Amino acid sequence: MRRKLTIQGLEAGIEGKTILRGLDLEISTGEIHALMGPNGSGKSTLANVLMGHPSYAVTGGSVSLDGRDFLALSPNERALLGIFLAFQYPVEIPGVTVGKFLKRAIELRVPTGGMNVTAYVKRLREAMDFMEMDQAFINRYLNQGFSGGEKKRMEVLQMIMLEPSFAIMDETDSGLDIDALKVVARGVNRLRGEGFGALIITHYRRILEQIVPDKVHVMYKGRIVMSGGKELAVELEKRGYDWIAEIEGDREAAKETSRVAVGVGAS
Ligand code: ADP
Ligand code: MG
Repeated sequence: MRRKLTIQGLEAGIEGKTILRGLDLEISTGEIHALMGPNGSGKSTLANVLMGHPSYAVTGGSVSLDGRDFLALSPNERALLGIFLAFQYPVEIPGVTVGKFLKRAIELRVPTGGMNVTAYVKRLREAMDFMEMDQAFINRYLNQGFSGGEKKRMEVLQMIMLEPSFAIMDETDSGLDIDALKVVARGVNRLRGEGFGALIITHYRRILEQIVPDKVHVMYKGRIVMSGGKELAVELEKRGYDWIAEIEGDREAAKETSRVAVGVGAS
């Protein structure tokens, strides 16, 4: 059965500052959506609000999953319902190994008695091979001392193991070299299918050449101001975000963002 995440008129902010200003978006499983937009437009805020980050306050609108109020749920309840957030900046968790972390997370999602540990380890090893990660990572503390690229691979490894219905990926591609980007894209494409939907937040068309999106949205000042097919990412790269600012009649911002080229200077 297809699942549906529906965001309507969402307004939210942090520390009294309004960031999301009436955002509408609907994602079904089976679809990959890309979310682009200049720095500070509220992309990470949207990701955090969807996952229930306690620092953000929702002041208007709604989010529902299959018609059920989603905002009333705690972050762990949201995760158990199959929403996954791949962090822009994954946190290091000293004392918790990768192997134990994933095992516990899977057990919580399938609470039917004990798990077959041998089968789990086999699955984990296969997924790590697929993500081109050294098996020694199983016994390392989650993200501790991992390089930027290793942290991002770890996020996708979690996705492969947990098989969420929806993944929100906040700039998973930022800072990746070409090889790591390829592996990350391969991981997401492996999940692609009827039972999986994703919101890929990115600045760069690069990743969207490998994970071809069904829809592309442009966020600007807390709202989605433009949506289209994969060709929108190409046009955006050509014209830059000042194009959006101009369309929005925002002369000050157009001057400012014209210096920020889209899709070049990837770190
Ligand atoms: P994006 O991910 O699109 O770059 P963010 O959602 O991170 O945008 O930020 C949107 C706006 O919210 C920015 O102006 C940012 O400075 C502000 N913001 C984010 N986090 C905080 C915070 N903890 N306190 C105050 N302002 C914040
Ligand atoms: Mg961000």
